[in-house]
Amino acid sequence: MTTATYGETADETAQRHAELYKAMARHNVIEATNAATAHMHEAHRAAESRGAPTAVAPKTFENGRVVTAPQGGNANQGPMCKCGIPSAYSEWGQNKFNPGQPNRAYKCAKKVADYRDPSGCDFIQWVK
Ligand SMILES: [Zn+2]
Repeated sequence: MTTATYGETADETAQRHAELYKAMARHNVIEATNAATAHMHEAHRAAESRGAPTAVAPKTFENGRVVTAPQGGNANQGPMCKCGIPSAYSEWGQNKFNPGQPNRAYKCAKKVADYRDPSGCDFIQWVK
């Protein structure tokens, strides 16, 4: 693409833009659009002043480590897994020896949070 071609294209675009602008002005569209834009900015500022929703999200993991490790009182916390973080209680399916009872085990907390997490280890300690 040459500079001349680009210039022509730009001129055409600018001309079309100007015509569109004039047409919009004739129909008072521009004033309405400006009002709408100003309103959106106000709404955005109001949302910012309320604070981002991420500020209230619980911080459970940081760089793969539990930072809000509860000191006792958490029945859902088990022994350290191979990652060196407290494992988490998990239950699923049915115990084949105790029909009606789910399988229960402490597993890597990362795997409990997301069983597909590749950074989680395969630690498992059955709860009898
Ligand atoms: Zn682990």
